[in-house]
Amino acid sequence: MKCIYCNSEDELTSSDIITYAITGAKLTKSFVCKTHNAFTNDNYEKKFVADLDFFRNQLGLTTRDGKTIQYRADISVDGTEIHNVKLSNRESLYAPKDVVAGTDNDGNKILMAPMEKLKKISKGKATSVNMSDVVVHKTVGSNDFIGFHAIHSMAKMAYEWYCYINSIEEYKEEYQEIVDYILGKTEQEVVDIIIDNYYYWAIDQLSEIGTNSFFQYDDLDGYRYVVIDFWKTIAYRIRICKSPNDCLKKVRALPVTLYLYHIDGSKTQQVFGVVLLEKNKQAYFKTICPQNMTADIWGIFTSRIGKIMSTMVLSIHILKREVKNLSDKLDKYNAGKIDVTALLGFEENNIVTTIDILSQLYLNKDKYDMTKTFNQNLPIVLSLHSDTIGRTQEDKKKFIQLLVDKDKDNELSEYIWNGINFFDEIYKNEMNLPK
Ligand SMILES: [Zn+2]
Repeated sequence: MKCIYCNSEDELTSSDIITYAITGAKLTKSFVCKTHNAFTNDNYEKKFVADLDFFRNQLGLTTRDGKTIQYRADISVDGTEIHNVKLSNRESLYAPKDVVAGTDNDGNKILMAPMEKLKKISKGKATSVNMSDVVVHKTVGSNDFIGFHAIHSMAKMAYEWYCYINSIEEYKEEYQEIVDYILGKTEQEVVDIIIDNYYYWAIDQLSEIGTNSFFQYDDLDGYRYVVIDFWKTIAYRIRICKSPNDCLKKVRALPVTLYLYHIDGSKTQQVFGVVLLEKNKQAYFKTICPQNMTADIWGIFTSRIGKIMSTMVLSIHILKREVKNLSDKLDKYNAGKIDVTALLGFEENNIVTTIDILSQLYLNKDKYDMTKTFNQNLPIVLSLHSDTIGRTQEDKKKFIQLLVDKDKDNELSEYIWNGINFFDEIYKNEMNLPK
């Protein structure tokens, strides 16, 4: 085995083919030397990942040692905009362990903390704010997704994945263009953004929020490409080398194997067809250069990215983690240590969604088929059409009101426990199902 960037046989280290911080599904191979592993990490991936902290937190990804990812966002509190506030969840805003700091529109520092704590720090200058309607917002900058660090990270992942999947264990001349690009020796762009409606229609049927999908194919222009569909938001097409198959040029349809790497750590494959719908086309997919991104097209991507914020990926493992979190909180609630607002994580999306799912599961428990997997049961039990659950803000508000009413009637604890107990049955059953 040699380094796929320089053919060095010394100090080969394990490379995270898919940047560890953007996936639950690890994919590694020791075919990159220490120097080049550090090069891509220091020059592209660290910055790329840091820009995505907010979304990584929303997807439930964690740091390497399992901690919640902190992120920066803007918040509106009581009519004041506070920028660049460091948070880990809504709770860190409402019941902060430390002082929450940000800046106002004029760049002045703003501190938020419980009044007693703040009085000491500010020597009486603090004023109270109404926390009942706090909005956390995040501006989705195109630079985070298609800027220099992002597209170079994509090129690196595409090349390493290509070598991995095709058992390539050394650098060859045919990869000079992509390798030079990754090593910063050329500005010649090798990364495009797919803007094809048919493509996004197809991937929407096959993938789910948070999943990274990869496939390779030969296009009509005579080049071989890898496509990375990132979190079901944006698809990058990376030119790897000249296509070794000249005969493929006239083919109107080609089967493609899609490799899906999911947030919960699982890996699956799907075969799908790429079809040329119009004659005389030069490529299977419509693409643009990242530099030519327009506000209109970016608007479409923003709404795809926005789905991360209102969606929870449903797998038995993710739900298990959320249920554990919830039952810890419920113990405190039952012991009178926290109230209903804290129990609901100050309306944290994942907590409210988890209670929502648990109650639906319990309500439809007769429909649950224990001979089938959790994900096979979901469409029937929850009337869903995919493996994600998204609710409108209005639905969420109504549901929270229902929970608050149950709290007043002393029925909330039992309501949630019923769901948790049934979920535990489902989980045990799932672990015993034949694989
Ligand atoms: Zn090397």
